[in-house]
Amino acid sequence: MQIPGSIPDPAALTRAALEHDPSVIYFLDRHLRINWCNAAWDRFARENRGPHLTRQQTIGFPILNAFPDTLVQFYASMYESVLATGVPVSHEFECSSDTLFRRIHLFVLSNPTELGLILINSPIVEHPHGLERPAHPPPGGLDPVPMCCHCRRTRLSPDPPEWVWVPGFVREPPPRVSHMICNPCHTLNYPEFLPRRTRLP
Ligand SMILES: [Zn+2]
Repeated sequence: MQIPGSIPDPAALTRAALEHDPSVIYFLDRHLRINWCNAAWDRFARENRGPHLTRQQTIGFPILNAFPDTLVQFYASMYESVLATGVPVSHEFECSSDTLFRRIHLFVLSNPTELGLILINSPIVEHPHGLERPAHPPPGGLDPVPMCCHCRRTRLSPDPPEWVWVPGFVREPPPRVSHMICNPCHTLNYPEFLPRRTRLP
């Protein structure tokens, strides 16, 4: 609880700003235990992994225990390098369900307000229908494609904003790009400009 007139806690502000982001975002502490997950984590758990893996059950879980033995060293090295250097790392992996083939783009960043890591999971879209060929192109050219100037994800829909990883757009940007900033990049890089609605009561 924030005392009226006191300086807001930056860690709480960051969590509040990322809580309703559509990407699955979670934090690890220095010992690589999950110490926070946003609402999208619970949605993904309900739709894929089962309700027993909601965030309440997951807090404190050592993330490396989630991987098979052959992958533990890979992920341990990746997390440790970001903790040690502060240099973000990205990685792509398959995360299919029984009905969906799915690939995920993972960003691992150091957490500016808490000692630990921030992990952002975005779906990878190879052929974003409606972006490469808009249904009703305006006179004079195609609609500019909204891309985040920091993480280079593409915004598929504005409301709610859905940011995805489009490999083709990163290799070769579309003819017209509208440079924007996604919510996680805004929150992590410009916390002093957080919109008021994300401030805690
Ligand atoms: Zn971004």
